[in-house]
Amino acid sequence: MPRCGCAVCMSADPRDKRTRSSIYVSTPEQAWVIDTGPDFRAQCLRERIDRLDAVVYTHSHTDHMMGFDDLRPYCTAERDLPVYASAETMADLKRVFAFAFTAPVAIPGYVKPHPHMIDGPFELGGIRLTPLPLKHGRAIMNGYLFEYEGRKLAAYLSDCKEVPDAVIERIAEVEALIIDALRYRDHPTHLSVSEALAVAERVKPAATWFTHICHELAHTETEAALPVGTRMAYDGLKLEFR
Ligand SMILES: [Zn+2]
Ligand SMILES: [Zn+2]
Ligand SMILES: [Zn+2]
Repeated sequence: MPRCGCAVCMSADPRDKRTRSSIYVSTPEQAWVIDTGPDFRAQCLRERIDRLDAVVYTHSHTDHMMGFDDLRPYCTAERDLPVYASAETMADLKRVFAFAFTAPVAIPGYVKPHPHMIDGPFELGGIRLTPLPLKHGRAIMNGYLFEYEGRKLAAYLSDCKEVPDAVIERIAEVEALIIDALRYRDHPTHLSVSEALAVAERVKPAATWFTHICHELAHTETEAALPVGTRMAYDGLKLEFR
């Protein structure tokens, strides 16, 4: 947090250095990213991301979409980039990045999005993605369940305040629950640590990973106080599903 001198902001632990929330998913067939926040370019450089076959959005808050224009290196003259988003999020992307969506002719070097409106489950690289609409203050965000051959691999719920029963049931016993846990204190649009733990208790995942964490939570101290099987995610963390 700029202008903050707290213990987490001053920490020497690299896991306390957090960029905006996003995940990169790679299968033998395809690779895609969920959200392109303002740190997207730096994250691609850090992780040496060469391959990107699609982009999927959770919602249109600036911390999740403002890196859109840095998708340029992943577009070529021959290839449009499939962009998946809800109708509401797509409308915001088209408004904010109109120059890319409405270019009358393809401009060399520009992002060339190919919009795919999400209105139900879809498939990318052999993985089935099921959108999970969740309340996030006044906004609705899409969480996603990732499934492969009937296995519930992971559920990614990055920004939410509530997880309704129907979603809990849909993602029950998922292998990895990646869930919003902003801080200990209550927040109007994000789950707190205790609220996220309450959701995890009902979902019963094999492992829970906290994400979208703010500077009020120190990595090591917070993780030490969490129940067994619940972990703090950190930048560069890799989860493998075999
Ligand atoms: Zn701080
Ligand atoms: Zn948000
Ligand atoms: Zn966010």
